[in-house]
Amino acid sequence: MSVDIECVVVGAGVVGLAVARALARSGREVIMVEAGEGIGVGISSRNSEVIHAGIYYPSGSLKAQLCVEGKQRLYAFCAERGVGYQRLGKLIVATDDRQCTALQALLEQGRRNGVDDLQWLDAVQAHALEPALSCVAALWSPSTGIVDSHALMLALQADAEASGATFAFHTPLVTARCTEHGFQLHTGGAQPVSLSCRELINCAGLSAPEVASRIEGMPSQHVPTARLCKGSYFSFSGQAPFRHLVYPAPESAGLGVHMTLDLGGQARFGPDVEWVDHIDYPVDPRRAAGFYEAIRRYWPGLPDNSLQPAYSGIRPKITGPTEPPADFIISGPAEHDVPGQVNLFGIESPGLTSCLALADRVVECLSPKSVDDTIL
Ligand SMILES: Cc1cc2nc3c(=O)[nH]c(=O)nc-3n(C[C@H](O)[C@H](O)[C@H](O)COP(=O)(O)OP(=O)(O)OC[C@H]3O[C@@H](n4cnc5c(N)ncnc54)[C@H](O)[C@@H]3O)c2cc1C
Repeated sequence: MSVDIECVVVGAGVVGLAVARALARSGREVIMVEAGEGIGVGISSRNSEVIHAGIYYPSGSLKAQLCVEGKQRLYAFCAERGVGYQRLGKLIVATDDRQCTALQALLEQGRRNGVDDLQWLDAVQAHALEPALSCVAALWSPSTGIVDSHALMLALQADAEASGATFAFHTPLVTARCTEHGFQLHTGGAQPVSLSCRELINCAGLSAPEVASRIEGMPSQHVPTARLCKGSYFSFSGQAPFRHLVYPAPESAGLGVHMTLDLGGQARFGPDVEWVDHIDYPVDPRRAAGFYEAIRRYWPGLPDNSLQPAYSGIRPKITGPTEPPADFIISGPAEHDVPGQVNLFGIESPGLTSCLALADRVVECLSPKSVDDTIL
């Protein structure tokens, strides 16, 4: 079978869904091809589900810009579409004087990024907010929240379909070739298809570098090496110790083992940092020891034997453990000179928060047409 279509989006995670929605709403004919059996089978179902404020990222970076913009868009989208969310607020805590200096730097960084509601709390003020907390100071971020990521993805899919996008599951993109008028694609799975399209958007998450390297005609210097950084979570069996999200001062490859809540009020802790060479999701129960140690720095009351292995996610890194963290990469024709093609690389945290803003940037890369819902 051979199909001719205007635009193909590869990967139905939260980012691909937001991109398919934005492209369909801009008037394009869109097919989403997804290797898995449905939406959200990758990173998008294996994260902290936190709507980040935009504090941590270097000024002017895509992460900073798209997180701050994406947060506002996401809260508005969730409210309008009835997607579950709670603006719980979060505390980032310093447990010694050295971490106070790091927290001060975060406060300044957040303000430079446009997060203008951050407040410095001393130990007494933090304790008044969260009596079980042990810290010498904390940053209060009222605009941080949580979201039901699966409901979000369903709402994005529904919008995309309402604007005419179609979805093909069990349909991995296997090869692609640049042609005079766009791309010739071949998909695998039980019913292989040949597709020709004018625009090809690669939102394949952990596999994005591999998918880009399969596009014949894509200059290889524009395809980064994929690095995998696993983060495990443990659930807490008792009543949640805090009403707000609690994060330690950040560490090198992640934000530190933090406590988040789901919309039902159940607490979980994670993710830790483990560089791996292949995708492997089971949580090693032996990692619990590191969790007890990390959590007890800010919650000494954590009871023995109260943590159970829960789930893990893998960060789609494009720099290694000894290199500085990379920004999101939106690599379009202006970078690699292949008309109609955009690759998204390194879409780790805060990719969930940023999905609507990221999607608009992709549309902008392709044409001057603007998306018709910039208020959402
Ligand atoms: C541990 C962890 C915690 C996080 N916490 C947060 C957080 O609290 N807040 C936040 O904002 N962000 C967070 N993030 C980041 C966020 O989860 C990601 O940025 C986001 O989910 C990435 O979505 P995606 O659509 O790019 O990737 P994915 O969800 O992985 O989607 C990619 C899709 O592409 C498909 N695919 C792959 N190869 C092919 C192929 N050849 N053909 C067709 N389909 C293919 C896959 O099956 C998959 O469905 C976290 C990430 C991790 C790992």
